Amino acid sequence: MSKSTEVLRICQEQGIKMIDFKMTDLNGRWRHITIPVERFNEDIFTQGIGFDGSNYGYAPVEKSDMVFIPDPETAVVDPFTEIPTLTMCGDVCVIGKENRPFDQYPRNVSLRAIQYMKDQGIADQMLIGPEFEFHLFDNVSYMVEPQRMAFTVDTRQASWNSGRETADNKGFQVPGGGGYHIAAPQDVAYTLRSKMCMLLQDWGVDVKYHHHEVGGSGQMEIEVELGDMVDMADKTMIIKYVIHNAAVQDGRTATFMPKPIYKEAGNGMHVHMLLLKDGEPVFFDENGYSGLSKTAHYFIGGLLKHVPSLCAFTNPSTNSFKRLVPGFEAPVTIGYATSNRSAVIRIPAYAKTPKAKRFELRNPDATANPYYAYAAILMAGLDGIKNQIDPEAHGWGPFDCNLYDLPEEEKAKIQSLPKTLDEALDALEADHDYLTAGGVFPERLIEIWLRKKRQESRELSQIPHPAEFQRYFDL
Ligand code: GLU
Ligand code: MG
Ligand code: MG
Repeated sequence: MSKSTEVLRICQEQGIKMIDFKMTDLNGRWRHITIPVERFNEDIFTQGIGFDGSNYGYAPVEKSDMVFIPDPETAVVDPFTEIPTLTMCGDVCVIGKENRPFDQYPRNVSLRAIQYMKDQGIADQMLIGPEFEFHLFDNVSYMVEPQRMAFTVDTRQASWNSGRETADNKGFQVPGGGGYHIAAPQDVAYTLRSKMCMLLQDWGVDVKYHHHEVGGSGQMEIEVELGDMVDMADKTMIIKYVIHNAAVQDGRTATFMPKPIYKEAGNGMHVHMLLLKDGEPVFFDENGYSGLSKTAHYFIGGLLKHVPSLCAFTNPSTNSFKRLVPGFEAPVTIGYATSNRSAVIRIPAYAKTPKAKRFELRNPDATANPYYAYAAILMAGLDGIKNQIDPEAHGWGPFDCNLYDLPEEEKAKIQSLPKTLDEALDALEADHDYLTAGGVFPERLIEIWLRKKRQESRELSQIPHPAEFQRYFDL
């Protein structure tokens, strides 16, 4: 059966009126373009659909024509559209005599990282499990006026959740920092989270669990089962879309901003990972530290060596670094340990069987473009394996102590994560050969990323901040 026959069968069965194509831009946002179902035919899988790549951050205006080639395997009915709509993801090509895959397109970068891992003979599969922390707000308004350089923010923090300012306040409040696994009646978002998870299950995402997170002002978490890296990058886009849209349908707003509220827990996107070769786990050794093999240790070594530059892809916003501060279970120092939420790499004590043996990288957050972030994580780990980077020999642990509370002289001996986006970008400028190895990250992409992110950081440092009004306005 041809690709289009199968798609048209779904369309007929489901009364589909529109076919929608979703593409990821440089920042990691979905954009979409839609055609009436009558216009759909087999050619779309070879000739694709043209679009202006310059608006995606991919091409200069004078060379901006690109084509999107949908992948029928990803076809699914979009649960949020009023008009019955079938949606597909896919890949992006540059136009030539023969269209060829656009080497900077995020999905193509992560596909190449997997191929590189296979070519090195290290493993043939990377399983990852990202965790999604987010805040639910019931009233958010912000206004940025660059011309006047004025910036006002009014973020009413989940008042329906904390009990403040609501007409039907019953007095049950979630205490600041006391929201972890809190039950009803305080957990007023239970129904909404359950709806989100049911929508995700329907979309083919295996949900592990969901719960209220530590933050008192409506912080939530949804975790998913581990899956293949590229597929999980696609699913990361789906998960964020479902969480955002289900919240809006419910009259709320969801945000993955790493640190939306000062002095409250921030939102991480921890990434669990393990490698398989011929279906066998590469990271397990019952005699190794915490059940991890030598190869797993080298992978950790690579991550810890490169984590400052990795942050440019896993924590690519100025807000990312407001989360990476002591005291909120977000990492600040470079090290690994078992069960330790103050270390950048935590080996979960509960994952004991060979097939479950893994660790999590805790610095990433969801402002990352997941395709670049997961590919960069893999490339850092592979570099560790290739160069046998032993994390213990480098003084990166294992640290079985609370790294936030160490005496100052001990703290001084341990390397810190970057404290600002600029520091992460400096690190990327100095250290990116592990990313460009095998052509996985094109040099041009690193250049574009550095230029764009430096400009973003400069602009944000020049915008007057509401907290500056508080401190300086009446001086
Ligand atoms: N919210 C914390 C962070 O910013 C993580 C809490 C947890 O371990 O789940 O990374
Ligand atoms: Mg959490
Ligand atoms: Mg975690």
